[in-house]
Amino acid sequence: MPKPKLFIPGPVDISPTTYEAMCSPIIGHRGKDFETLYASIQPGLQKIAGTERPVFLSTSSAWGVMEGAIRNLVQKKVLNLCCGAFSDKWFDVSLRCGKEAEKIQAEWGQPIDPDLVRAKLREGGFDTVTLVHNETSTGVLNPLSDIATVVKEFDDVLLVVDTVSSFSALPIPTDEIGVDVLLAGVQKAMALPPGLSVFVVSERALQRAETTHDRGYYFDFLEFEKNHKKDNTPSTPSISLLYALESMVASIMEEGLEKRFQRHSETNAQVHKWVKENGFELFAPDGFRSKTLTAVANNRDIDVPAFIKAVRERHNFLINGGYGKIKGKTFRISNMGNETTLTMDDLLCALSEVLPEFT
Ligand SMILES: *Cc1c(COP(=O)(O)O)cnc(C)c1O
Repeated sequence: MPKPKLFIPGPVDISPTTYEAMCSPIIGHRGKDFETLYASIQPGLQKIAGTERPVFLSTSSAWGVMEGAIRNLVQKKVLNLCCGAFSDKWFDVSLRCGKEAEKIQAEWGQPIDPDLVRAKLREGGFDTVTLVHNETSTGVLNPLSDIATVVKEFDDVLLVVDTVSSFSALPIPTDEIGVDVLLAGVQKAMALPPGLSVFVVSERALQRAETTHDRGYYFDFLEFEKNHKKDNTPSTPSISLLYALESMVASIMEEGLEKRFQRHSETNAQVHKWVKENGFELFAPDGFRSKTLTAVANNRDIDVPAFIKAVRERHNFLINGGYGKIKGKTFRISNMGNETTLTMDDLLCALSEVLPEFT
């Protein structure tokens, strides 16, 4: 059985160009060739990340940096903004790191309300806020700029934002709106194999880290800063993934960010159209819908696992049957990465062909 083409919301389908890039010979990471590779990726990454700050490279999945942000920055208390599997989990991770933490809990499928964030921060005692920009489990896109504006009203409160499933698919003006830590794993919106994360740390977040105890070593932001000055990483990075990243950043620059954003809007709209034409509803509310994936509400009450299995067996495409407590009540279709209106058409035709047997 050939492996199915992935339309799950991460990891996503990898291009042959990326696989080829990963076969470049391994080089030592404490040498000129590596420094050249590292430095060459920076300008493109900075454009994608909307920043003039360095973009650090962590050989870990996103959770490494998500946990690292907590360990580097939280001295008093963190406010975790929760509205789905990943953002909810971040609250749990804060506690596991031994930090004082509180959360705002939105219902799964709903976005975070900036007014509630303001009200909570006014209670005082917080020094860090975490937000998941695009909640991959529910297909909700949170109002990042509005929340950043609220957090800015409070001195000494740092904003940490997970953009794992939105990075490079829509504009993220990190410096302009004042995000203190922006992070993304590369296996979702960036369409690379898993194992690497990129992140940006503001000057004031680095200053905070300097006085935070128990930062550990592997995710110590100050180590990343120190090594970045030599175009390097604290520990041996996944060099093959850096080659993949170099190739992907070059191809994103070649396509152009505006065009890439537009392509995601178009392919996303195509999925929404299919959803409506087939009598399903969108799980996320209007105005807060992800551009990179669609969480479809299973209002027709189909047998989701059987549907997905049939699509896979007959067309070799894989979509996802819902995450965590909304498994089966939703299913998810990704349009992240390299997908085009043509490749999405292939998938949607396959779904249309199989669906009648399940309704
Ligand atoms: C997938 C995902 C994560 C977790 O990423 P890992 O690579 O498993 O560490 C975190 N946040 C969001 C929004 C995600 O989609």
